[in-house]
Amino acid sequence: MLGSVARKLRIFGFDTLYVAHVEDSEVLKIGIDQDRIILTADKEFFKRIVKVNAKGVLVGGSNEVEDIVHILEKYGITSIDGIGICSRCSICNGQLAEASSKEVQTELPEKVALLHKEFFRCTDCDKVYWEGSHIKRIRELAKRIDLDLGKDHKAN
Ligand SMILES: [Zn+2]
Repeated sequence: MLGSVARKLRIFGFDTLYVAHVEDSEVLKIGIDQDRIILTADKEFFKRIVKVNAKGVLVGGSNEVEDIVHILEKYGITSIDGIGICSRCSICNGQLAEASSKEVQTELPEKVALLHKEFFRCTDCDKVYWEGSHIKRIRELAKRIDLDLGKDHKAN
């Protein structure tokens, strides 16, 4: 359910693990062992997280922008601008490294190779990224989230 939130958090540069089809107790164990903040839309599971003193955030699960703002606010993050947008692979959470167009050109659609100059490759799964319209949308979304974060900051 929170897969899309997880992918966005990765794109914004947060180290985000996404587990599906895993028992709640296993998620709890991973959260505690790896000192991670557990995100869930399940109220009963959230109660368990609180009970064992693990870190967690209960999200609505229906509006991803609201959820992301809520998560960041809870941990005192007032801007995602400097976190490292596009430093992480949205698919596997690996770190991205710059790659030259020569290195990646055989793996790209011809048009992409012609139109873009900046490329990145995931150091874990090898997926290639480039500065395209997708990243532009992500930066716009980041701006919107930063605005929302600022709003509540002022209200407090
Ligand atoms: Zn990857």
